[in-house]
Formats: sequence, structure tokens, C-alpha cells
Amino acid sequence: MQRRQFLHHAGAALAAASAASVAGCARQAILPKSSTPPLPIPAARMASGIAELAPIKAQTDRITGVYVCTRPFRAAGPRVEAEKLDHKTIVHNYGHGGSGWSLSWGSSALALRMAQATGVRRIGVIGCGALGLTSALLAQRAGLSVRIYAKALPPDVLSMRATGLWTPDSRICDAGHADGFASRWEDMARTSHAMYQNLLGLPGRPIEWIDGYHLPGASPGQGEKVSDEPDYGDFQDRVHDLTPRSITLPAGSTPFPGPVRRYTTMMFNISTYAHMLMADFQLAGGHIVVREFTHPRELLELPEHTLINATGYGARALFNDSSIIPVRGQTARLIPQPEVNYALSTDTLGVVPRSDGLLVQAFGATGDFNNSDRTPDRAASEAAVRQLAGIVASMRNS
Ligand SMILES: Cc1cc2nc3c(=O)[nH]c(=O)nc-3n(C[C@H](O)[C@H](O)[C@H](O)COP(=O)(O)OP(=O)(O)OC[C@H]3O[C@@H](n4cnc5c(N)ncnc54)[C@H](O)[C@@H]3O)c2cc1C
Repeated sequence: MQRRQFLHHAGAALAAASAASVAGCARQAILPKSSTPPLPIPAARMASGIAELAPIKAQTDRITGVYVCTRPFRAAGPRVEAEKLDHKTIVHNYGHGGSGWSLSWGSSALALRMAQATGVRRIGVIGCGALGLTSALLAQRAGLSVRIYAKALPPDVLSMRATGLWTPDSRICDAGHADGFASRWEDMARTSHAMYQNLLGLPGRPIEWIDGYHLPGASPGQGEKVSDEPDYGDFQDRVHDLTPRSITLPAGSTPFPGPVRRYTTMMFNISTYAHMLMADFQLAGGHIVVREFTHPRELLELPEHTLINATGYGARALFNDSSIIPVRGQTARLIPQPEVNYALSTDTLGVVPRSDGLLVQAFGATGDFNNSDRTPDRAASEAAVRQLAGIVASMRNS
């Protein structure tokens, strides 16, 4: 997840035009080019509905874990295509950068159509992350018999380390490939978005809509593109209608010291959500085999003639695909606070109020692109939590 998501992907910038940028991949200034004009204070109070925002307990001793993940970025966008491997068909479904959860249902629906074109009634899915689980479930729902093969299962897959926001064009391709990918991207985004609306209101709230607040100018000088990352494809203009517009709330109408931008976005409570996907698959008769493949020829040993390859970053080694570039990302989790139901962001920091913990992420660091190092940097997360503590201390009701 990237800084831009708190605003832009998250819907914050949707009133505006394209572009604000990202944590770690920002292309332009964080604030949208245009937005709805600020509301007068009484109207803003009514619109904000935030007379009180529960203060976040931003203490380093409340960090329950620091997690590092590598986004499987491909300059051309995710690889969703069928390939013949001897007598088998492999449908690739990997390389979703920072958008794997967001695009999962749409991308997997496309992969399934390719798998169904082979006419088989049973398939194998390699991988049990966001893309593997959604591929397997969609195949089951289409009446196919499905077996998942994976080296690791949730919670031990990289997908579990994502931030958990609707970020459908986060590091999904580079700007040079955007035109060629745009239409497929929109199809994936719309299909996924529609699917997520069917997953609202379920026990444990796997998916929910939340509000977030972006504090502009909290870090002057920030907000520009991260210098060592490419320009990324930006498709937000194509899906204006999917998320509410952001609103600028003036100083005095919120607990924050200055004006803030309120946005509304979808959040994935990943622990609950992945658990639900696994349970649904198994309840519907799906089988899971824990197995690692070290060479594509090992796939030929499997009984299924059609396989969906959803190995994410693992495809780089398994299929010797050097087009997958690791983009490192780190989050820290604080002890859950159910009373905190809002996201928060500045140009350098983001907080997401997931049910399994408050996620804190620092934005804008260089050195993450093409970096496969998954060693946690606790000091960086502690610095982010201390920065957050300063923001909390400045809030009126803290
Ligand atoms: C810091 C960070 C924040 C993110 N935030 C968001 C966000 O807010 N929203 C969003 O939409 N996306 C986000 N992402 C992106 C998202 O996490 C990924 O795009 C997504 O997890 C990729 O899922 P996947 O199923 O392709 O891969 P994985 O989750 O890595 O799953 C791969 C599966 O394949 C298996 N496998 C791999 N190799 C082999 C092998 N050789 N043999 C057998 N099995 C194998 C693995 O064990 C695993 O089961 C974020 C990423 C990072 C790093």
C-alpha cells in the first residue's frame, strides 16, 4: 500500500483528477489537482460527523509485529495468460504489484475464463495467496473441481502482509505500459469492486467501508515521487464512480489542528477475510496440498491438465521470470483498538484501523524498488509510531 492510497485510491482524491502520488511511488504532489471546495464550519461539522475521534494509542511498546513483504511488480502489469507446458495448460495469474487484493476477483475471473476454455472439469491452482484463493473459489462456483497446491498457506503467505485497502492501481504497471493495460485493468477493478460489495456486512467484517483523514502539509517538502521508482500507471480517472468524493473539512470542524481532507475507502480485514476464503473453499469440498515446486516440469506430475499459476513473487524463481521486480514494503501493527474506526494519513505516514491491529506504515523511503530483503527494520517502524504520537497529541480530544 502506498501513500496515494490514503487519498487517491482510497477515494480521497477521486473528486480530483488523476495523480496524487504514492508512498514510495508518488508521481506528483499528494493533494489532488482539484477537489470539492471547503465546507463552511457548521456544514462541515454536520458532514464530518466526527465530533469525537478516538485517540490512537501510538506507543512503540504497543507494536505487536513488524512485517515486510515484496510486491510482485511487473512493468507491463500482471501476467494473465495461458501457456502450453507439454500436455498441460498453465494459466498464469501473477504479478499484481501493490494491488493484489484489490484486483484479485477481477484478475482471477479472467484467468478462470482462460482455464475454462480448455474444457476441463477439474483444475489445479498453484498458490494460496490473494490470487490463488480467489481463482480457486471462482472455479468452484463455476462448478469445477479444484485442488490448491501451495508451498505455504495463510497466514504464512505474503498476501497476509498487505495493508488492506482498496488500492487497485498501486504499482500495477509502469506509465509506459498504462495505455495498453488500461482497459483490462478497468475490467479487473470493476469486477473486484462489485464482488467486494457482496462481502460487506458479514460476521467478523472481512470487508468494510471506512473514512480516513489526510492531514495536508504535515510534512512540508514531501509528496513528490520517490526518486528511485519509475512513474507508475495511474488509472483512477477510469473509476471515478466507484468511491465517494473526498471533502475538505476546515480547521475547527474536526479534532485536527488544521484543515483535513476526508475520504472514504474500502478496507480488507485481511486476517478475517483470508480465513473466510480458506474456510469457504474447504467447505465447498476443495482440497489443499502443501507442496513446493522448484521447476515447472514438476507441474507435469500433477493429475490436473489445466493449472492456474498464482504463485505471486514466487513465479520469479519458479518460472525464471525476471520481469517480476520485488518492491519492498513494511508495516507495523499496534494492538487493536476497536474504538478507532478511521484511517489517518500524512505525506509520510499512514494508519489503517484493521480489526487485527492498527497498521502503521511509513511512506516515501527510497531503496525499496528491486529490493527483495525481507528483514524487518523495527527502528523505522518505531520512528513512524513516534511521528504518529505527535499527530495524536495535537488532536483536540486526545
Ligand atoms: C507493504 C505492502 C502493502 C500492500 N498493501 C496492499 C493493499 O493495501 N491492497 C492491495 O490490494 N494490495 C496490497 N499489496 C499487494 C498485495 O499484497 C500483493 O499484490 C498480493 O499479496 C499478491 O498476492 P499473490 O496471491 O499473487 O501472492 P502471494 O500472497 O505471495 O501468494 C503466493 C502463493 O504461491 C505459493 N508459492 C509461491 N511459490 C511457490 C512454489 N515454488 N511452489 C509452490 N507454491 C508456491 C506461496 O506459498 C503462496 O501460497 C501490498 C503489498 C505490500 C508489500
